[in-house]
Amino acid sequence: MTDTPKTQASVIEGLRSFFRSGKTRDIDYRIRQLKILDKMVTDHEQDIMAALKKDLNKSNPESFMTEINFVQHEIRYTLKHLKKWASPKRVATPVSLQPGTSYIYKDPLGLVLIIGPWNYPFNLTLSPLVGAIAAGNTVLVKPSEVSAATSGLIRDLIGRYFDPSYLAVVEGGAEETAAILEHPFDHIFYTGGERVGKIVMAAAAKHLTPVTLELGGKSPCIVDKDINFDLAARRICWGKFMNAGQTCVASDYLLVHETAKPKIIEALRGAITQFFGENPQASPCYGRIINEHHFNRLCEFMKQGNIIFGGTTDITSRYVAPTLIDRVTPEDPIMTEEIFGPLLPIMTYKTIDEAIGFINARPKPLALYIFSDDE
Ligand code: NAD
Repeated sequence: MTDTPKTQASVIEGLRSFFRSGKTRDIDYRIRQLKILDKMVTDHEQDIMAALKKDLNKSNPESFMTEINFVQHEIRYTLKHLKKWASPKRVATPVSLQPGTSYIYKDPLGLVLIIGPWNYPFNLTLSPLVGAIAAGNTVLVKPSEVSAATSGLIRDLIGRYFDPSYLAVVEGGAEETAAILEHPFDHIFYTGGERVGKIVMAAAAKHLTPVTLELGGKSPCIVDKDINFDLAARRICWGKFMNAGQTCVASDYLLVHETAKPKIIEALRGAITQFFGENPQASPCYGRIINEHHFNRLCEFMKQGNIIFGGTTDITSRYVAPTLIDRVTPEDPIMTEEIFGPLLPIMTYKTIDEAIGFINARPKPLALYIFSDDE
């Protein structure tokens, strides 16, 4: 369900005026809201799993581990530490200001906008919300329209559990988000791709609004020679094929010592089969690609290099098999764009300096993995 710009404006005005009332400055008020959020998540674990199944075919254990429990942990950790974090801290006073005393006060910012992504649509929309509530802000949440079932559920649940002038959800895509961004906020927390990140930052700049941008990138995974290849392969598969590769910090590509290549490929084949069976399409633990656009994008990548394992697809269920790809070049789009799917290109290096040079010659990744016994 989307909102008209007029409805959006009145929701935003409501949130501003609630902040001005000063209620959120009270730490006990924030603690009560966090406890309500915890109850909301815990009461509706089954509904959250059902929405994630619909959007991404996530299995219940995966949804619990990577979305629900993640948020619960965030809330409980914050509840444990909030009073200490929020209390004023006495600091030294410079001679020029003697005989004064000095404190650092942690003041709420005001109205915060959270724009969520679709890949972990529950976790990555609600985790920043925990921080925003804890810091005493009022919040407007805009989940990703791409994960429509989870977006609708977030709106429904927050509408039922919270005062809409304290915490509100608006739904919609590019057009609705652009209209929201016309308004001034005190902070914007955006998670998603780089292209939209630039749009968000440009819109924020008009009001000099500070932003947090949680973006993507190509995270390399280095595999050294003479290691436990089976163990490395299981760990690589776990991170890469969870959520069908749609994880911002998943290994994007492997950089393997040239002598280790046959061994890691054999171990990866074994690990994929151990995790998802001979036919991953029939596995209850294997996700699907979020939509046709991303499915087609991945199919284009599969035309590059040489598929050595997997490679099957099914458009009707948006299934892309866990796939290993050999003989790609650094210029192929699969090596210049973020993959964000279950395709793993394998490149080789001769010396570790060569591998480091390759990584440093490219934009900064979000994460980097290395499997080596060399400390
Ligand atoms: P997306 O398409 O869901 O977009 C993110 C948000 O931007 C959505 O809420 C969407 O409605 C909004 N949006 C889309 N077009 C817009 C426009 N023109 N103007 C204003 N808002 C607009 O998500 P995505 O970008 O495809 O997400 C995938 C990316 O997110 C990947 O690059 C991934 O690496 C990154 N990501 C990063 C993290 C992290 O923590 N760093 C976590 C998850 C995902």
